Amino acid sequence: MAIQAVVFDWAGTTIDYGSRAPIIAFQRAFAHFGINVPEAVIRADVGLDKAEHIAKLFAQPDTWAAWVHSGHNEERDVAIQEVYQQFQTEIRAVLTETGQLKPGMQSLCAYLQLKHIAVASTSGYTAAMIEQLVPVVHAQGYQPVINVTSERTAGIGRPQADMLTYAIQHLQIDDPQTVIKVGDTVNDILEGKNAHAISVGVVVGSNLIGMSEAEFVALPESEQTRLKEAARETFIKAGADYTIDSMADLMPLIEALDQKALQVPLLLTPGPLTTSASVKQTMLVDHGTWDEEYKVLTQSIRRALLAVGHADPELYTSVLVQGSGSFGVEATLQTAVPDNGTLLIAMNGAYGQRMATMATRLGINHVDLDFGETQIVSAEKVLNVLHQHPEVTHFAMVHSETTTGILNPLTPLIPQLTEMGIVTIVDAMSSFGGVPIDVTQLGVDYLISSANKCIQGVPGFAFVLAKQLTLATTEGNARSLSLDLYDQWRCFEEEAGKWRFTSPTHTVYAFRQALNELIEEGGVAARHARYAANEKQLCQGMLALGFEPLLPTSVQSPIITSFKYPAARFDFRKFYEALKLAGFIIYPGKVSKAKTFRIGNIGEIYPDDIQHLLQVIAKTEVAQPVAVNE
Ligand SMILES: *Cc1c(COP(=O)(O)O)cnc(C)c1O
Repeated sequence: MAIQAVVFDWAGTTIDYGSRAPIIAFQRAFAHFGINVPEAVIRADVGLDKAEHIAKLFAQPDTWAAWVHSGHNEERDVAIQEVYQQFQTEIRAVLTETGQLKPGMQSLCAYLQLKHIAVASTSGYTAAMIEQLVPVVHAQGYQPVINVTSERTAGIGRPQADMLTYAIQHLQIDDPQTVIKVGDTVNDILEGKNAHAISVGVVVGSNLIGMSEAEFVALPESEQTRLKEAARETFIKAGADYTIDSMADLMPLIEALDQKALQVPLLLTPGPLTTSASVKQTMLVDHGTWDEEYKVLTQSIRRALLAVGHADPELYTSVLVQGSGSFGVEATLQTAVPDNGTLLIAMNGAYGQRMATMATRLGINHVDLDFGETQIVSAEKVLNVLHQHPEVTHFAMVHSETTTGILNPLTPLIPQLTEMGIVTIVDAMSSFGGVPIDVTQLGVDYLISSANKCIQGVPGFAFVLAKQLTLATTEGNARSLSLDLYDQWRCFEEEAGKWRFTSPTHTVYAFRQALNELIEEGGVAARHARYAANEKQLCQGMLALGFEPLLPTSVQSPIITSFKYPAARFDFRKFYEALKLAGFIIYPGKVSKAKTFRIGNIGEIYPDDIQHLLQVIAKTEVAQPVAVNE
């Protein structure tokens, strides 16, 4: 839904650049008694209850000594009371002086009025103070519908949600997600989050920077940038949804949020990925699992999967396993490898490593062969290790290692191993359906993938194409009940497509639709061509924008591409947010050695989408300096 309202804070946000009014009033109140209190000392406790704040200032030995020295009443409570009274007088005068709207505020007000976006305020000030400010800002074109202070919420102020929620209710808005709360302090951000609104922090002229406009503008640009980035970081750490430089920047943010509300995001991720509308549509109906229709559907999927993988139905079977892809891998490992077997795992990324972790947990003897993260699995090295480890009975590897996007060749290695009598297991999770694989020719014993990758279904189950003769020897191997691939297979076979336990019905229906769409597209070859074209266009476009892929083209899969950060100070989070705002969801990196991020090429993604993405990236400020302790 489009943005319905903006609720502003006062000092430091809409008026009073640098939120200086309380500081000045404190300084003047003390000066009235002949005492000079430095601004930094006051600033340290800004936001406290005012009497408490004065007590804290008197707790400074210098301040108290000056007070006593100038011959005033030496009772602490009396002193606090006297300065507090004076503060009340001073703040009234100062408020009027600092009531000028911050830069950008006037055009923002005109814009909000034009868009019929309601405007309200919440404040840490008292109602009396706000009453004094209202005519000052009205005269400048800023007229909130309601100004909420904690007097309306039984004294409950920030960071609690009460004042903001009061304002939202007053405006008769049901969904707080359509409300933007803008403020310049951490407590403002927290108030917004607590009320489930969109929290925005304004950086320039904020309390976090705490300088007057003249002071700030006089700083060298590098120092201005450093202060701004530090403030931005503070807002983000507090949970801000967005940060803006100046108030005028709220306008493009609202435009972008409204745009975003209209469109569905494109997932440029390796599963879950973007599915077609027709696949989503199939999930709007609930289905039982007991009727014949569902069993027939399951059998048709099992047959279709064999066809997608060129697996001879005389030799191979397909077994569906509830859960994500890893469930399928774990079921296969523990069913395939008996207690007296030994598994060699060739790995070059997180998914290969995950297999080793599973083997350890399952108590499977395993030998690990690690190729790092940017080298493909070398057949020669695997064969070498086999000679050193004659006890190896099983072999596992990942086809498309989604960690980086590297594509490990399956030939000649898998046929060679099969020839040697080694049982082979391939995690083809992110490649099956998107990269041609001929299971029969490979002779692979187990090939694993899942519903939410290149077949373009939604998450919910994994599947394993298994050589029947091999699987038939595995009864009783599994170390757990639910992930027993053998038992699962027998149930499908003996009960004509019945799942052993509750199955993800919506996912299964969506998957059948996704398989139909794969066939309509022209099968795996056509889908591979589309993904490869996406990848090529993405890679070339990104290179032109100064982004270097992690991998050489020779080992790059068409599935997902890792890009190195373009600069040491690249702020991925900001980059991600900017793309998200434009409707694209990408992935952070998963590589341990280099700083990378990933963009997926699979799913319901076409050249137009890649082109649009590249245009958005071109417009993104990518190499923003970051003011964190890197
Ligand atoms: C997605 C994927 C998996 C499975 O991950 P889940 O989160 O369990 O679905 C396994 N291996 C590879 C290579 C993958 O890309």
